Amino acid sequence: MTNHMKFLDEVLDDLREKKIFRELTVIESCQGPRVKIRGKEVINLSSNNYLGLNTHPKLKEAALKAIEKYGVGSGAVRTIAGTLDIHKKVEERIAEFKKTESAILFQSGEIANQGTIPAIMGRDDVIFSDELNHASIIDGCRLSRAEIKVYTHCDMDSLEKLLKEYKGTGKKLIISDGVFSMDGDICPLPSIAELGEKYGAITMVDDAHASGVLGRNGRGTVDHFDLHGRIDIQMGTLSKAVGCMGGYIAGSKALRDYLIHFSRPFLFSTSHPPSVPASILAAIDVLENEPEIIDRLWANAEFFKKGLKDLGFDTGISQTPITPVIVGEASLAMKMSDMLLEDGVFGQGIGFPTVPRGKARIRTIVTAAHTNEDFSIALEKFEKVGKELDIIQK
Ligand SMILES: *Cc1c(COP(=O)(O)O)cnc(C)c1O
Repeated sequence: MTNHMKFLDEVLDDLREKKIFRELTVIESCQGPRVKIRGKEVINLSSNNYLGLNTHPKLKEAALKAIEKYGVGSGAVRTIAGTLDIHKKVEERIAEFKKTESAILFQSGEIANQGTIPAIMGRDDVIFSDELNHASIIDGCRLSRAEIKVYTHCDMDSLEKLLKEYKGTGKKLIISDGVFSMDGDICPLPSIAELGEKYGAITMVDDAHASGVLGRNGRGTVDHFDLHGRIDIQMGTLSKAVGCMGGYIAGSKALRDYLIHFSRPFLFSTSHPPSVPASILAAIDVLENEPEIIDRLWANAEFFKKGLKDLGFDTGISQTPITPVIVGEASLAMKMSDMLLEDGVFGQGIGFPTVPRGKARIRTIVTAAHTNEDFSIALEKFEKVGKELDIIQK
């Protein structure tokens, strides 16, 4: 290493000293309710694979068929020669599913945010952003160079105060996670729609954790609150509950046409391999035809959440299958995570900057694919480790 790269070791040594340095956890099996880590089978409470769709036979079959027909790569960016009929078809299908005029596909949810916010907002504009919004929203806002006004988490008085105070003439955008990824609470979207209407602001919701989870057949927060036609931009991911990969923006036809011309990742990065839109199409079929999988997810989530609460853990304000076990210091969360893994339960420890300081946690997500046996083992281990670390009473 050259001398001018020495800062890497200095920073990393500091993380090691604070006991928050992490190695990546390598999964040696498919991403399922149980996974193999370092040769051992463990219960997996750390994926976003809410519905277990990543291994659904219909999705796998669709991907394989697409590989046979199209091969494994798309060969170009969308505006040059990388739009295959299957990319167009999946966008039409997403729009129909979301009940919007149009939809546009991105390589990931992160890229959908980074590609959309700076395309529609610029230097003279203002963005009103929830303080706990996802990093990809924050990055998208920063890339836009618009003024950013952060409102208190889900606090509509705080949002309205900022809207009222703003005297500029630029475009206004209110943006929020639909379901907050670290706490599992749902944003007050009906009030956001009202404030957008009252103050002439564009409204955008990030449904990464609501896609496939909330609303009829997993249509997301707009459907959950019956706000069709009242939120301008719906972003979602196809990488979590939908089991595949990708992000989308659903809204008006003009929005899609505009993004095709101005969204930089759309213009400058190659489109998905054809197997990806093929498996997304199959996933939407499953959401429409097998909604009992979503019911099972919610029943499992309620059961596990109640189990953790009954043991005395602080599970915060979650209203969805994302259930944090909040312990305080990051080093304690990492220790708890390591001890759980030792006992056969994989729950990732999460600390600052992903969550605020002092709010470090094990963030759990159960899936529709977990069994009662998985839950009774997991709860038993949480109890044991929680008592050993004095997080819950003995
Ligand atoms: C995961 C996530 C994203 C990014 O989605 P990917 O498809 O994984 O890139 C964006 N926003 C929120 C709120 C998320 O939780």
